[in-house]
Amino acid sequence: MRPSEKPHKTVFAESSDGAPTYWECPSCGFLSGDPRFLDLEHACPVCGATGVERRRFPSDRVRRLDHRIRDYQSQGDGEIVVILVMALLETILEDIVDRMMEAQGADLKVRRVVMDSQRSIGVRIGKLFPALAGEEFEEAAEELGYRDFPKRWRTMREARNAFIHDSPFNGPRERLDAEMGADAMVLLDQAYRLFVLLNNRFVADGKHRS
Ligand SMILES: [Zn+2]
Repeated sequence: MRPSEKPHKTVFAESSDGAPTYWECPSCGFLSGDPRFLDLEHACPVCGATGVERRRFPSDRVRRLDHRIRDYQSQGDGEIVVILVMALLETILEDIVDRMMEAQGADLKVRRVVMDSQRSIGVRIGKLFPALAGEEFEEAAEELGYRDFPKRWRTMREARNAFIHDSPFNGPRERLDAEMGADAMVLLDQAYRLFVLLNNRFVADGKHRS
């Protein structure tokens, strides 16, 4: 029997100038932006754990990259912003897929082999995610309130690829530089929240079930 059947609700981090700060329950992987979660005596709403130190999410590596992206954005360098935001989203996706595999019992060796052999973002989203979640990424995003996210992410990846491969754009270059940078920042802020929701649904609950 599960220790707790109480429904729990994700608390988003308060907005800040940089990357949001979440805290992770090391027992079940639940992520919360609730400052009370910092208090070790405040029980995890999913597994009930207390007295264990909670790790910060996202990682320091992601936070440093986030900081640099915001610098470029403030300088109006939309092209670099799009390229770096896409790199950051791929890092966060890799992290979530890795956590989902771990929650389902895959050890580090297996996870490394899978991630090394499935490097394409299209395959990770289109094949790996559904295999682990039991539903398509698009469905999961829609259920969690981010229906447009997968399409916007795809469009942004295409723009990034156009920048990198110097292929023709579907619009004037000035528009891409200015507006795509701003769009990428919106996507980044949404991505943090969506990935926390995905984590709490497919990782925290998944661990809890096993
Ligand atoms: Zn927990």
